Amino acid sequence: MKIAVIGVGYVGLSTATIFAELGNDVIAADIDKEKIENLNKGIMPIFEPGLKELVERNLKEKRLRFTHDNKEVIKHGDVIFICVGTPPKENWETELKYLEDAAIEIAHNMESYKVIVHKSTVPVETSEKIKDIITKNSKNTEFDVVSNPEFLREGTAIKDTMNPDRIVIGADSNKAIDIMKKLYSPIKAPMIVTDIRSAELIKHASNAFLATKISFINAIANVCELSGADVEKVAEGMGYDKRIGRSFLNAGIGYGGFCFPKDVQAFIKIAEKYGYDLKLLKATNEINEQQKKNFTNKIKDNLKELNDKKIGILGLSFKPNTDDMRFAPSSYIIEEMQKQGAKINAYDPEAMEKSKQMFDDINYCKDPYEVAKDADALLILTEWNEFKELDLKKIKDSMKSPLIIDGRNIYDPKEMEKLGFEYVSVGR
Ligand code: NAD
Repeated sequence: MKIAVIGVGYVGLSTATIFAELGNDVIAADIDKEKIENLNKGIMPIFEPGLKELVERNLKEKRLRFTHDNKEVIKHGDVIFICVGTPPKENWETELKYLEDAAIEIAHNMESYKVIVHKSTVPVETSEKIKDIITKNSKNTEFDVVSNPEFLREGTAIKDTMNPDRIVIGADSNKAIDIMKKLYSPIKAPMIVTDIRSAELIKHASNAFLATKISFINAIANVCELSGADVEKVAEGMGYDKRIGRSFLNAGIGYGGFCFPKDVQAFIKIAEKYGYDLKLLKATNEINEQQKKNFTNKIKDNLKELNDKKIGILGLSFKPNTDDMRFAPSSYIIEEMQKQGAKINAYDPEAMEKSKQMFDDINYCKDPYEVAKDADALLILTEWNEFKELDLKKIKDSMKSPLIIDGRNIYDPKEMEKLGFEYVSVGR
């Protein structure tokens, strides 16, 4: 099939690459010219395991092309995927202007029947808005709008796009549903075909549930700290219950990234518009904010005075296997430490370039050992696998005082005690 993708971020780039890999003829466009020039040279705008190899292969086989000309892709695609960002406005409502701009451009440039699929996370009823915009701005060309929310996780975007848990298709036209079924037929996953509003809500409800699961275990972690229990054991004991499951029960410094924080807040606003107070999600958000504060309080309690203290940070991205720093808990913690005069040394396997755009007053180090050198405290903010394999004796010997405050519970407290560390973690 001839596929067009508008917006080449995490979602658009993964979508374009996988549909090309499945044998379709894909052109993807982005308004960011530098991004497109780099992609055509094989330079990826994001770090995602397996992405570069797949992009290079499909560019070479000429199933995939990148352009900054939206008109060209709109003319090319029988199916047009809109994958532009839906960032939060200042009041946390969803900013839809990128989506609306794309819809207007599609309307102005489509010359034959198109299936217009939006993958961006949007408030319920957005598809209807897109339909109206296109109808008002086009010359009576036939089209259908489909909601096909994306569930990929950063860090496993390629794997998730190739092997999703489910595919959700929200549409009111059989012609569009048939085309979507054919396009997705090589991907083996349950397909839910539903009305458009339900499809839009499935995405917000899913992210809200996952974020709530994280806040739930963080709330339990706080009770564990007060009562002397161990949240890791509690999560393990809960997780064997098939109705609960172990995933997303990792206590820590809270969720971040460009999905959960904005989607939880947006969902509260959406419900408000319909006259419903989503108190549950307000609590999810509050616990998440408090969790970051609890962590900085632990640093302050242990160091007493932060002015001129040398603090080492391992991990900047909001989770492992990504270089994404958007709404990363690390940025809140760094700002708090800096406000009180601490000097920060940091290392992250992938996120340092993105972090430099946000913090140019951090000393970025070549490895964890350089971070630890002469540090008054070492903070673990992202659970990258390589931090689990460190030579901890070497770390201890190079630190000024052997204090590790672990926001991701990656070490065993007994082992750390044996090694002579003062070790503080979450919920145990
Ligand atoms: P992103 O910010 O990484 O990428 C969006 C891209 O769209 C940018 O490169 C931007 O330049 C481009 N763009 C904006 N307006 C454009 C236009 N008119 N024409 C062409 N390009 C345009 O965003 P993302 O992380 O890929 O997320 C996209 C959407 O998918 C959001 O709604 C997000 O909530 C949702 N989503 C994201 C993830 C994720 O893990 N990142 C997962 C599921 C769903």
